[in-house]
Amino acid sequence: MARTPHATGERRSGRAEAPDLDTPLKARILIVDDDERNAFAAVQALAELGHELVVARSGEEALRRLLTEAFALILLDLHMPGMDGYETAALIRSRKRTASTPIVFLTAIFRDEAHVFQAYASGAVDVVFKPVDPFILKSKVTVLTDLYLKTEEVKRQSAYQQWLLDEHARVKAEKAQTEKALRQTEARQEAILKSLPIVVHSRSITPPFAPLFVADAVEGITGFPASRFVDEPGFGSSRIHPDDLDMVVERVSAAAHTGRYSVEFRWLCADGRYKVLQDQGVAAPSADGETREIFGVILDATDRRSLEEQLAQARKMEAVGQLTGGVAHDFNNLLTVVLGNIDIMARKSEDDDRRARRIDAVRQAAERGRDLTKQLLAFSRRQHLSPVTIDVNALIEAFTPLVRQAVGEAVTVDLQLSDEAICAHVDPTQLETALLNLAVNARDAMPDGGLLTVATSRDRDHVLIEVRDSGVGMSPEVCERVFEPFFTTKEVGKGSGLGLSQVYGFVRQSEGEVRLVSSPGQGTTFGLRLPASAEPVERAEPEAEPALVEGGHERILLVEDDATVLTLTLDMLTGLGYAVTTATNAAEALAVLQSGAEIDVLFSDVVMPGGVSGVSLARTARDLRPGLRVLLTSGFVGEGAVLETAEFPLLDKPYEGRLLAAKLRKLLDGPATRRRRGRGSRSREAAAAE
Ligand code: ADP
Ligand code: MG
Repeated sequence: MARTPHATGERRSGRAEAPDLDTPLKARILIVDDDERNAFAAVQALAELGHELVVARSGEEALRRLLTEAFALILLDLHMPGMDGYETAALIRSRKRTASTPIVFLTAIFRDEAHVFQAYASGAVDVVFKPVDPFILKSKVTVLTDLYLKTEEVKRQSAYQQWLLDEHARVKAEKAQTEKALRQTEARQEAILKSLPIVVHSRSITPPFAPLFVADAVEGITGFPASRFVDEPGFGSSRIHPDDLDMVVERVSAAAHTGRYSVEFRWLCADGRYKVLQDQGVAAPSADGETREIFGVILDATDRRSLEEQLAQARKMEAVGQLTGGVAHDFNNLLTVVLGNIDIMARKSEDDDRRARRIDAVRQAAERGRDLTKQLLAFSRRQHLSPVTIDVNALIEAFTPLVRQAVGEAVTVDLQLSDEAICAHVDPTQLETALLNLAVNARDAMPDGGLLTVATSRDRDHVLIEVRDSGVGMSPEVCERVFEPFFTTKEVGKGSGLGLSQVYGFVRQSEGEVRLVSSPGQGTTFGLRLPASAEPVERAEPEAEPALVEGGHERILLVEDDATVLTLTLDMLTGLGYAVTTATNAAEALAVLQSGAEIDVLFSDVVMPGGVSGVSLARTARDLRPGLRVLLTSGFVGEGAVLETAEFPLLDKPYEGRLLAAKLRKLLDGPATRRRRGRGSRSREAAAAE
């Protein structure tokens, strides 16, 4: 340790100042003489030695000074008035502080041996006779002061050694204290890291993100010790669920640019089960400050995820309950009409007028049923869409008169269409239906009138159609549920709760999305985002309602698994004059085709039992008989069926005789392998909810 003279640094408690080793030691000499000249002579003699000389003019004064000051040597006159030299010396000796301070007697009078002896006896170390010889006094004083200075130096050194020892001990104790505190902190941190259900980790910022540190808590969650992860850099990612791996790599890689990441994935634990882990972290400079690392926290999110799934499932069940309840309610009403009227017709014969009215009521009820299933199919995204490329602005412009009529005169309709033409590949009838449903809702939200704005714009690869009203708006709770089928806040009889489910189902099935912004009193905006199309506009051929029913004499192979539908359709077709062969499944139908029987048209249901759909039956039939005309029919097309059925013309169920007749005639009169296009046969009024 370096000498630290005058340590003036921090004065912490317990820290002693270092003894001063540098200031030269000085001897102080006390000259006691009542005679001023004698004292002066002594001072003169000793001056050149460089010591500090203090003069006292009596024994009493000397004793007073000795109480507070330390001296190396006392030159004491023996003969003084009052307290003489002997007395003074005795008192000096008797005091502990001064007991060993050497005393040299100076005497002019008592030169005899007895006096000298007495002087030594009273504690003198030497006796010098006056008048003092300066040389003798100097050399005697030098011997004594040297001795004093050496003794002082030894004392000072040993004090310094002691100080060093003390200092060392103190520093050691302080260090031990600090270490203890550090260990306590570490132990506490470790206890926290171990006991909390989170895993703190750090890893490389570049793939495969090799772990550098993994907290022990990982064992509690995964069943594998932390060392496993650090020792085998690929271990962590090797147990991520294959379907989640790409996403994890992508998200964690992004941290290099964004500075942070958050990802949830399934991880295969030691017990063979997947847990959902949530990993969140930041990219930050590593301990060496040179490179960057990822610091993250992993939590077991399995329970939370499963609760979320249960909640979603419960919501779904609630929606399904509402849906089935709604369907049952509506169907019961219309079935009551059907059954009641049929019952009366079966029991009593009425005049033609009444009979016709009953038949009409039954027909209306059945049509309501047909519309209802159409809306349900729209919501479930299983409706038969006939998408064509349309100019959205042109469609809206052409449709606006109908919208104006629907909202009434109290509502102003304002069109804000984009300057450029924007095209989308969608089913035009369904888009019109969606617009009508939105307009009717807007009207209901503005009972005292208001403003309805329809705006279009291009939003990157999408066409954005916004329908805005200045109406009452919706609470967040209502917003959350509006797309559920049968959800309505309107009084019984006013709302079906199916309008927005059509909008939602149609847009989703068209690979778009619906956005909703609304709050009470602030009006409502529905945004329909549909994929834009770069194709040229196609002309949708409107299917005119057939004016007169035309039959024919060609041969038709009718394939239908439902016995009642088969019988009815057979009646319709034979009624039209066609020659009909029937089959109830694909295998029977193929047998007919292979038999060589003459067939002009294959008219088949799409969804049939036995694993072979009408579509694959039609393909096989075409292979067998190229040029065979095909008409398919279905009440419900499966997912992806939009594209599939574009191969063959499709007639939606339920169909009426007139429509069937028209389709068949057109097919038979057209070219043999026509690719179907056009907007299908649904009427717009039927699909609209209100
Ligand atoms: P319905 O109109 O038969 O009630 P919808 O599916 O069309 O069924 O709408 C569901 C519900 O959404 C409505 O009952 C209404 O509460 C709310 N809603 C829809 N559009 C609007 C709107 N523009 N302003 C306020 N509320 C609306
Ligand atoms: Mg509605």
